[in-house]
Amino acid sequence: MTVSKFIRKLLKLKDVIVVRFEFRGRNGEFHLWVKPLKNGALCPECRRRGRILRTMDHRLWQDVPICGWSVLFHYRPREIMCRRHGRVQELIPWADAYARVTYRFEYGMLLYCQLMTQKGAAKILHVPKSTLSDQLHRTIGRLREGHRIRDLKTIGMDEISYCKGRKYATVVYDLDRSRVVWVGRGKGRETIDRFFNEALSDYQKGQILWACCDMSAAYIGAIEEHCPKATLVLDRFHIVKALNEAVDEVRKQQWREASDHERKVLRGLRWLLFMHSAHRSKKDSRILNALRKGNRRIHRAWVLKDEFEQFWEYGAPWAAERFIKRWCTAALQSRLEPIRDFVKMLRKHVHRILPFIEKAITNAKAEGLNRIIRNVKNRASGFRSLPAFVDMIFLTVGDLDIPAQIPVKFRTV
Ligand SMILES: [Zn+2]
Repeated sequence: MTVSKFIRKLLKLKDVIVVRFEFRGRNGEFHLWVKPLKNGALCPECRRRGRILRTMDHRLWQDVPICGWSVLFHYRPREIMCRRHGRVQELIPWADAYARVTYRFEYGMLLYCQLMTQKGAAKILHVPKSTLSDQLHRTIGRLREGHRIRDLKTIGMDEISYCKGRKYATVVYDLDRSRVVWVGRGKGRETIDRFFNEALSDYQKGQILWACCDMSAAYIGAIEEHCPKATLVLDRFHIVKALNEAVDEVRKQQWREASDHERKVLRGLRWLLFMHSAHRSKKDSRILNALRKGNRRIHRAWVLKDEFEQFWEYGAPWAAERFIKRWCTAALQSRLEPIRDFVKMLRKHVHRILPFIEKAITNAKAEGLNRIIRNVKNRASGFRSLPAFVDMIFLTVGDLDIPAQIPVKFRTV
């Protein structure tokens, strides 16, 4: 076995010949002068041999490091004349046409960035972090190019913050597949309209049968306008949250009016009131039941909140509807202002809440995805620019498996 064949075998280089190699001391660089097998000159489109027109400038490609050595490829690609495709740069077997890194480097980069911070990935791949971020953006952009949303039937939408909570982006989910399909700068109607107009065809909009969002008028308005066949279901999580907030408002009012002596009973109640009955201990229930004597108004608000949990368990829509009607009447009789506001909201949206009984879709899946997104955000200690954040969202929870877009034979790191 010749040395160059040995290197080819060791580095698992396919369709490549090693002409010459050199170790460059200090920085630990392993330089390889390579060329395509059988003299190349293949058209990247049709893979047919073309007439060589000229040799282009010398170029360098970074490959994945091996045993601490950075690996660099040298080659002068040629411009060829293809009968069908005209003047083109010949096919480079180890990298995309204009990439500065090999396919294998790209695969490693995508894989590492899914698992760890970009800083960590940059260290493993022997490049500065800024270079890695730029490269990641280029690679993901190229691999996602031309990707279309497919078979979207159940959508969810939500907003996320970035740049230390100062800026917002809107995220659209495919809730059947638990994937992110779209991310856009900003929040509100304008952003969502952009999604429907740019990312979906009219046919695709007609295919959407279920939609899930919070109570914001922007989301509801956009869904009702763009998705004529969709049944809108308000997200359970947001409704529960609104009710919890109403109960908390009652607690705050009572706290403000209470004397020092009365406050003793009210201390530490906040999280207890939020708690779902299934998670309460006996001691928790005892404290809450004691409120009946301690503070009747908070007790009343809490009982209503607890009763409302039943709603989500109904199997028959008519029974759920009857329950809501009765619950609303009881809640209004409580004469608790924040609870009455919640009832108003509930009555306004009741036709968007009842379909939950038929199809229990919630943004819960989206909340799960949101958690992953938050992890990604925290891992990078907050993204400053949206494109960098979007790259990571698509890489970790996007609807396209990005590493799988790299040709199979290069998926080794
Ligand atoms: Zn061709």
